Amino acid sequence: HAKLGGRNTVQAYTGVLSEGLARRLELENGLRRAIERDELHLLYQPKMDLTRGRVVGAEALLRWTSPHHGAVSPAEFVPIAEACGLIGTIGDWVIRRACADIQTLEKAGSELVPIAVNLSPRQFRRQDLPGEIAAILETYGVRSDQLELELTESMLVEDAETAVAALSALKQLGLRLSIDDFGTGYSSLSYLKRFPIDYLKIDQSFVRDIPANSDDMAITKAIIAMGTSLGLKLIAEGVESEDQVRFLVGNGVLLGQGFHYARPLDRDTFAAFVARANGG
Ligand code: C2E
Ligand code: MG
Ligand code: MG
Ligand code: MG
Repeated sequence: HAKLGGRNTVQAYTGVLSEGLARRLELENGLRRAIERDELHLLYQPKMDLTRGRVVGAEALLRWTSPHHGAVSPAEFVPIAEACGLIGTIGDWVIRRACADIQTLEKAGSELVPIAVNLSPRQFRRQDLPGEIAAILETYGVRSDQLELELTESMLVEDAETAVAALSALKQLGLRLSIDDFGTGYSSLSYLKRFPIDYLKIDQSFVRDIPANSDDMAITKAIIAMGTSLGLKLIAEGVESEDQVRFLVGNGVLLGQGFHYARPLDRDTFAAFVARANGG
């Protein structure tokens, strides 16, 4: 049956595979040197109070500019870093840089809002994560309630016992905890109520097609009902339109982030955005 596709098809297919593999290996090698070569930076996307138009927080989003590949999406390089064991170093760098930026903003007299960083599964599984974070907070003189961690559902369901213990240790430090991309994992009321979390972030895939898609609106309403009954605060991701804001606020979601308000911004542009929105 090899003849069916023919020799050229097989070669073309192999070519595609190795091209993908080559890129992956190049990215992996590039990532090993990305920190020392100063190729990583953070952007900050405002989290908004939807009814008052004020900034109530921010999400730090990692960017990598590779000399060979240009801007590489974190959706591509974070999983590679996770798989090849670099995420520990890179994740530490993210927390450190976010805290350094908080310190800089405070010294500049900016209004401080909590900054959220995204955690990867391996980072979350590290026994010494709470101690590591406590040391970084101390180094930069940052209060623990100024730092928030975003985790995904899949990180919590694998081993719920261990996850409860790990989350409790982070919560005891005084950090804010969010579940990111909520609704895309294996959520159930029974596990959610055991976790000491503060916020549910409604995944942008549900928000995207509001108000055109009635299924997405029904799912969003169900997530809101579930979160509210558990006493969690809700925040919508990927808010791009006034119609979406109206639907969300009408259904009790008071917080959101998305291109409707701001794209991820560099630190100083973010500070200027806060000053303008919050009237400082
Ligand atoms: P996420 O944590 O769910 O972040 C939200 C993503 O949605 C970001 O993509 C953000 O730029 C994008 N976004 C924000 N508002 C809108 C909008 O209105 N419309 C649309 N279409 N998109 C919007 P980004 O920055 O490319 O990050 C992608 C993912 O990479 C993140 O998803 C997160 O899972 C991961 N990531 C980013 N930075 C880090 C990091 O420092 N550490 C780890 N472990 N993961 C990170
Ligand atoms: Mg996030
Ligand atoms: Mg998300
Ligand atoms: Mg996402």
